[in-house]
Amino acid sequence: MHELAALIRAVPDFPRAGVVFRDVTPLLADAAGFARCIDALAEPWLGHGVQAVCGIEARGFIFGAALAHKLGAGFVPLRKPGKLPPPVIAVDYQLEYGTDRLEVQRNAIRPGERVLLVDDVLATGGTLAAARVLVGQLDAELVGASVVIELDALRGRERWPGGKPLHGLLHY
Ligand code: 5GP
Repeated sequence: MHELAALIRAVPDFPRAGVVFRDVTPLLADAAGFARCIDALAEPWLGHGVQAVCGIEARGFIFGAALAHKLGAGFVPLRKPGKLPPPVIAVDYQLEYGTDRLEVQRNAIRPGERVLLVDDVLATGGTLAAARVLVGQLDAELVGASVVIELDALRGRERWPGGKPLHGLLHY
């Protein structure tokens, strides 16, 4: 996995002072690295009957769509407000400063459908927790979640209550 880690760029003081942003664009641009990343993301879910991969805007779309293809599943975008045509359902969640909202189309997931959540980074865990609430409102059967990068010090995993697997490929 260290060759994947070498394709993640640490950007100090972005998007604001004191934050070290993990930039995944060099990984995406590297054909072998991107393929290896998708293979590694897929590996724990092979044979688990995932029917839909729900990717979180925006970088979760990139990893999620490739992963859906690999798993033979459909792809469902979880989007920022106002982007998806109605009917949609929404969940509001707390950011460090203020709130944000995720939306999904009401008919995008059938009740009982086996869904996997995907994002690029797990930081404080608020985004992934909101995504979980959202698919729960559609009565999806949550299989678990995968992120490419888990920022361990921010303890986002603590906002992912028991039972369902949460896989982080790279840890910082
Ligand atoms: P959380 O809600 O877990 O605090 O933040 C996770 C969300 O913020 C993810 O959707 C992710 O895209 C974005 N994010 C937070 N920190 C980083 C980072 O260092 N690098 C990237 N690429 N995304 C980040």
